Amino acid sequence: MTNKGLLIIFSGPSGTGKGTVLKSYFANHQEAKLSVSATTRAPRLGEQNGREYYFISKEKFAEMKSHNELLESAEYCGNCYGTPRAPIESWLEQGFDVFLEIEVQGGAQVRRLEPDSVGIFILPPSVKTLGERLRGRGTESEEVVQSRLKAAKHEIEQAVNYDYAVVNDTVEKATAEIAEIIHAEKHKTSRNPALIERVLNYD
Ligand code: ADP
Ligand code: 5GP
Repeated sequence: MTNKGLLIIFSGPSGTGKGTVLKSYFANHQEAKLSVSATTRAPRLGEQNGREYYFISKEKFAEMKSHNELLESAEYCGNCYGTPRAPIESWLEQGFDVFLEIEVQGGAQVRRLEPDSVGIFILPPSVKTLGERLRGRGTESEEVVQSRLKAAKHEIEQAVNYDYAVVNDTVEKATAEIAEIIHAEKHKTSRNPALIERVLNYD
């Protein structure tokens, strides 16, 4: 029987490089899936509906929430974000590891609902570097950059509520560290009761 996959809460301030690092991780990990969130924010240049996000209206978001279709949801810098519940359980049952790339309020909600989930917090090398990366990405106005940098300090304080912290200094190193974390998590005795039973019961 396939082992159930891991549910991974992947958080860190906007601009840290979460998307970049996950892209690199997913390139070599076909056993992992990335949850596609719903959001009320406008698409950035190059973003596609159903790929980066489901871009929906505030009314539709409220409707999904009231129909209990979201596993978690939060408001971040004036926009709503939420994780569609339906695909997650199915992927986990099929043995896929599922990454939720979500901010800290949503992360806390998932942690309460799914205590067995794994929390990984991704940190920038410094707040100065974070500002440079956010501006370097060139996708937000200076006003939005300021609002995200303001949110970043509070978010970084929440890193202690996560199981692991990874600094994204280089994409290669951060990607390798995430792979090591997932690998070690899968060897936890609590996740392998059948393995221990099997060795005990067979010569
Ligand atoms: P997030 O998903 O956390 O908001 P992104 O993945 O969009 O962040 O990365 C923000 C910017 O930083 C992008 O322009 C990206 O190319 C750059 N970046 C990401 N990781 C690194 C890194 N390790 N070193 C230098 N630049 C990086
Ligand atoms: P961005 O607008 O840069 O794509 O995302 C802003 C923040 O919202 C990021 O920290 C991102 O991780 C978070 N986010 C994206 N999707 C979700 C979601 O479904 N739920 C929550 N709580 N946060 C999300």
